[in-house]
Amino acid sequence: MKFGVIREVEPGEARVALTPASAAQLAKLGYDCVVETGAGAAAGITDDAYSEAGVEVLPDAAAVFAAADVIAKVRPPQEGEIDQLREGQTLIGFFWPAANEALMERAKERGATVIAMDMVPRISRAQKMDALSSMANIAGYRAVIEAGANFGRFFTGQVTAAGKVPPAKVLVVGAGVAGLAAIGTATSLGAIVRAFDVRPEVAEQIESMGAEFLFLDFEDSQDSAGSGGYAAPSSPEFREAQLKLFREQAPEVDIVITTALIPNREAPELWTPDMVEAMKPGSVIVDLAAERGGNCKLTVKDEKIVTDNGVTIIGYTDFPSRMAAQSSALYSTNVRHMMADLTPEKDGKVVHNMEDDVIRGATITHQGEITFPPPPPKVK
Ligand code: NAD
Repeated sequence: MKFGVIREVEPGEARVALTPASAAQLAKLGYDCVVETGAGAAAGITDDAYSEAGVEVLPDAAAVFAAADVIAKVRPPQEGEIDQLREGQTLIGFFWPAANEALMERAKERGATVIAMDMVPRISRAQKMDALSSMANIAGYRAVIEAGANFGRFFTGQVTAAGKVPPAKVLVVGAGVAGLAAIGTATSLGAIVRAFDVRPEVAEQIESMGAEFLFLDFEDSQDSAGSGGYAAPSSPEFREAQLKLFREQAPEVDIVITTALIPNREAPELWTPDMVEAMKPGSVIVDLAAERGGNCKLTVKDEKIVTDNGVTIIGYTDFPSRMAAQSSALYSTNVRHMMADLTPEKDGKVVHNMEDDVIRGATITHQGEITFPPPPPKVK
């Protein structure tokens, strides 16, 4: 069978779903790979690099749709792309099915099987296919780099002949995958890092990375843990206590990185305008929740603004794309592992086993049916 990758058409999207290294691994699974010309250009991968890895370079997306049995993408397909799918073809990529019902319906009508990488169950066995985590890891790292580029001072403290420089103080709100990556990056740059999360079990992870976990003095403990390792909405009392803690931090910290999310909801508003007002001029906020409305009320999605009191607020939503070489490498590895699960005999033939928790969880259309939402996974 043929595995094909097209160029991402979303403006500003620099990632690609296949690297030459992954193509070599797919060849071992029995697949011949094809790519659209220029598909990897924005991620620094030339057509020649693909050719050298044995990938056939085709002149346009239509040629890839015509040639390939499996099409891989990064972003959800656009209508013009979905309409090129044919019966029995498989599409793999981010899809966000809950937000893209019309697209899912169209894929069903085309008779295509769609595997949504954002629906891969977050169970141990599926970690190698967990593209949400690999992209969140990059976003957390890049958030710190972006903060540093907009912060006019060092992260690390220094004693120099020209004077003593205090270390920057970084607060990370939300210590999931992106938050932990931000904590690791900021501590390794020498900043003093504090972090807060509603899930108390992350305290140990935060501390093991050299950061301070901000405990909340609250009678029902820090616990807003929901199901599946995710957070649940906080009670009004807990939220007030949390905001009080942040108000105390606001004048002290130089950089705030917010990553707090609750599944299937708008991002909780945690960094209020009065906290921004209380921050020092030159401080930076990077709001990684901008896509879902932002944790900071003043965040403008996809923009960088500077407030009247000199605080920079970054609401970019394309952090993984800003590191397209790295994110393409990790994403294509996630997709390649999905292909390995779909190819049990390593014979270049997809076997779509709906009894497999991971394949079932990620499959949103199959054999002319919508198969979303999936039943809960049976194993951890
Ligand atoms: P996420 O992006 O949904 O949320 C980010 C963080 O925000 C979470 O840590 C959450 O607790 C926190 N948060 C929510 N409301 C908050 C508030 N009011 N104040 C402060 N923080 C708040 O989460 P994620 O990064 O996708 O993953 C969350 C967790 O899921 C992981 O830490 C892990 O436990 C689990 N997970 C498991 C696997 C696996 O086993 N394969 C893979 C990835 C994630």
